[in-house]
Amino acid sequence: MDKCRGSSGILIIGAGLSGIVAATRLLQNNFKNVQILEAEDRIGGRIHTIPFADNVIDVGAQWCHGMQRNCVYEMVKDQDILHPTGDYYSTMKMVRSNKELVPHEVGSTMHDIVAGSMPSGPHPVVGSSGTHLAENFWRRIEAELPHVDRTLAREALDSFAKHESSIVGADNLFEVSVREHIEYHDCDGDKLLHWGTKGFQRFIRLLMNVGEDQPEDLGLLAGHVHLGKKVTRIELARPRKVILRCEDGDYFEADHVICTVSLGVLQEQHEKMFIPPLPPAKVNAIRSLNLGTVNKLFLEFEQQPLPDDWVGFYCFWLEQDLKELRKTEYSWLEGITGCHKTTCQPRLLMAWVGGSHGRHMETLSDEKVLEGLQWLFRKFLNFEVPAPKRFLRSKWFTNPNFRGSYSLRTTKADEHDTGPWDLETPVTGPDGHLGLLFAGEASSRNYFSTVHGAVEAGFREADRLIGLYSSCGPNS
Ligand SMILES: Cc1cc2nc3c(=O)[nH]c(=O)nc-3n(C[C@H](O)[C@H](O)[C@H](O)COP(=O)(O)OP(=O)(O)OC[C@H]3O[C@@H](n4cnc5c(N)ncnc54)[C@H](O)[C@@H]3O)c2cc1C
Repeated sequence: MDKCRGSSGILIIGAGLSGIVAATRLLQNNFKNVQILEAEDRIGGRIHTIPFADNVIDVGAQWCHGMQRNCVYEMVKDQDILHPTGDYYSTMKMVRSNKELVPHEVGSTMHDIVAGSMPSGPHPVVGSSGTHLAENFWRRIEAELPHVDRTLAREALDSFAKHESSIVGADNLFEVSVREHIEYHDCDGDKLLHWGTKGFQRFIRLLMNVGEDQPEDLGLLAGHVHLGKKVTRIELARPRKVILRCEDGDYFEADHVICTVSLGVLQEQHEKMFIPPLPPAKVNAIRSLNLGTVNKLFLEFEQQPLPDDWVGFYCFWLEQDLKELRKTEYSWLEGITGCHKTTCQPRLLMAWVGGSHGRHMETLSDEKVLEGLQWLFRKFLNFEVPAPKRFLRSKWFTNPNFRGSYSLRTTKADEHDTGPWDLETPVTGPDGHLGLLFAGEASSRNYFSTVHGAVEAGFREADRLIGLYSSCGPNS
């Protein structure tokens, strides 16, 4: 090793969580020349906390999903900053498109049947989660709810399957591999831990070691982040050097590059971005895995429009209503999985819209989206929901720096025998030099799609470089 930690130049592409943790760990291990190039004019990536209504909202990641083996939880568990959200999704009302309220007992049994019919357990199975769910759901309905109206059960299956799709980030469960649940490791413990009045941004500030009273301070990363620097070319051609070119004409050289851009950005850009082209195994993974779209819609009211004993509601579409909806300009409303209250925001309602409907919603104006939501409220609810004071929605797919929300394991990845491990594999230069490393949530073997996956991947690649320079000694 010619160079040591102090002199080796490391560039990180992306100031999302993966990039931030990689940079902080390298700096804490005596790497001095560490720079992050970020295309957006802010740090955080798919964590984006902004002031709204009575507090803040998280336009991207919101919850710490689980406790055991969750590196995010591990880092903060001794501080009193994570709070339970409560059992939101199993207590939401179920409303049909003729305004009929589904009796709670029947509805929650069907909810549990859907949850219990998703692939689970250690045994490998083949096929799609959609097929697995449909088969098991109807078998269990016969056994556990033999007298339930089959029309209602079909509506419940459609609604809860949509909810499950948005959890994994898929357009529908038929594109999701049943292996998703084997490769993705659920972290035991509360899956919906929220960050109180500060939002997920609180975690970023902790990582950077910045106090709450210094909103602009980058703490440990001060002087190491370049905002508005969109990398367009990564050249691994010269011996022991990687060259990065940016959209604004700027040019950087480094010994090592850690690329943390989303799978969606890689899918769109990899052919133009990397010189020489990426190895076939990595291209196979980029093309076979998927970055799904899940969007959030936030409505601020003068007063909370839902009754006190409602947390929120799922939409159960009657078959005929759905057929009619699909012929109208509001067809994207089929993608709304539900609408609910949210923590620390007494006057807010939040809805989710995913998949192709979520992408279509992004193409509409705010006015049109709001008009659609108000139509939906009138269609489903037997009480009036007034016009909101303010409205905001995410557009994760349209933004070229993301091109989606979070990654999932597809049946296509099964067919092509690939997975996050192929995204993770570093690329060496012609001289065998470890020039290009990959992090980002989609490269996490067991925690893809999450913040803790992004964090784990960022640490993994920082540790790879720390290991590479271990012969230099920690202080050289
Ligand atoms: C709506 C939504 C809800 C979610 N909810 C949760 C949740 O509750 N809990 C959870 O654990 N996870 C959740 N997630 C997932 C979580 O947000 C992500 O898995 C995680 O934040 C990804 O971090 P990352 O560093 O891998 O990628 P990113 O955050 O995407 O960071 C990559 C960075 O690279 C930058 N970039 C892209 N292209 C370039 C370029 N050419 N040059 C320079 N910079 C570039 C991007 O601007 C971005 O800042 C959610 C995501 C979304 C969208």
